[in-house]
Amino acid sequence: MRAGDSADLVLRGATVLDPVAGIDAQHDVVVRDGRIAELAAPGTASADGLEEIDAEGLHAFPAFFDPHVHLRTPGQEHKEDIGTGARSAAAGGYCGMLAMANTEPPVSNPADVEALLEDARAVAAVRVGFLATVTQGMQGEELTEMSSLREAGAVGFSDDGLPIRNARILRRALQYQRLCGGTIALHEEDPELSGAGVMHEGPVSAALGLEGIPSVSESTMIARDAALAGYENGRIHVQHLSAAESVEAVRVAKAAGVQISCEASPHHLCLTDEEVRSLDPQRFKMNPPLRAEADRQALIEGLRDGTIECIATDHAPHAPEEKEVPFEQAAMGVTGLETAFAALHTDLVLPGTIDLALLIERLAGGAEPFGVERPSLAPDSEANIALCDLAAEWTVGEEGYESRSSNSWCDRRKLTGRVQMTLAGGQVAYRLRSFSMGVAA
Ligand SMILES: [Zn+2]
Ligand SMILES: [Zn+2]
Repeated sequence: MRAGDSADLVLRGATVLDPVAGIDAQHDVVVRDGRIAELAAPGTASADGLEEIDAEGLHAFPAFFDPHVHLRTPGQEHKEDIGTGARSAAAGGYCGMLAMANTEPPVSNPADVEALLEDARAVAAVRVGFLATVTQGMQGEELTEMSSLREAGAVGFSDDGLPIRNARILRRALQYQRLCGGTIALHEEDPELSGAGVMHEGPVSAALGLEGIPSVSESTMIARDAALAGYENGRIHVQHLSAAESVEAVRVAKAAGVQISCEASPHHLCLTDEEVRSLDPQRFKMNPPLRAEADRQALIEGLRDGTIECIATDHAPHAPEEKEVPFEQAAMGVTGLETAFAALHTDLVLPGTIDLALLIERLAGGAEPFGVERPSLAPDSEANIALCDLAAEWTVGEEGYESRSSNSWCDRRKLTGRVQMTLAGGQVAYRLRSFSMGVAA
């Protein structure tokens, strides 16, 4: 992230919730020189030299971390770039994220990683880490020079967008991982089973006459890759789990001692394939596809029992001309950084499906699987804070987006709960325009 001024401020009377640090009480949160200096009793912290922010009635959470976004740079900057993607993340309460490597061209060379890191240092409002591809150019044939990519700063490896079809290639990547480290993140899909599918295979696809992608396309590849990771004692992270069978495959692998972590996306946790009846590709076409209610329930249960340790948006910006076409032809993917917290708060926390504390824990849970330090509100931590108004109601997209693209799965939905301000890496990364910065009484 870009060099800026370290924050010096006090959040007066915020309700501070950090489930991992065991903090759940009202405090004055004192930030000095970009670090959390003190959690003082409400109204007691000295304001000496600090900006005072009235946070009474607001919640301060550890800022979120997204291990799976697409920033479209290099090559498709008309959809997103590192600056707009980082602003979008900051607006959603994120302090950091990991960008996928399926750009044009894919990130397969050490010089590409170095250039991206330099770009992020110049323009990004939050921390951005980069994955490099597992195979050269995502061709699935030759491994990249994983050690050199790690030395250049790649956090891990992924051919996301495509599965690693050849088991021998993944096996060799796991062997190299022993030498150079770096988690391997996997888009799990059997291309033979997915075929030309455009949505989940089930009664809805049958009714619509659309070709389906069966759940087993995902779960059988997870089982294969978990077996390989176990055999080579490697570390894998399964991306965007969508099906009940997949949750079970990860659960079985974890019980067997495999080093495996996984993520679920807000749209898979909130929606089902019933939405596809609208034939709206802007909001409801993505890969993996929205699945059945039983799958959604299995994902929620996986979040609850810890099988799924983190939530990842799979933020995938697309240009209007790729989305404003018939469903079958439209590009796969939706944006999600600006709405993840609000959507999950509205759809899962308010109805009582999951606790607020669990949501907050899982929204930052994507750091640890990639060896990144988890944001914390414990005193002496770097200030990474999402300040949220849980009662704020807003209509998504009404004031536009920070992202360069507008293919949000929440577009025009009314959500409850909104990020008012984000601190990332010790700096103020975002303030909602309408959030008044009045001096506390
Ligand atoms: Zn993917
Ligand atoms: Zn992706």
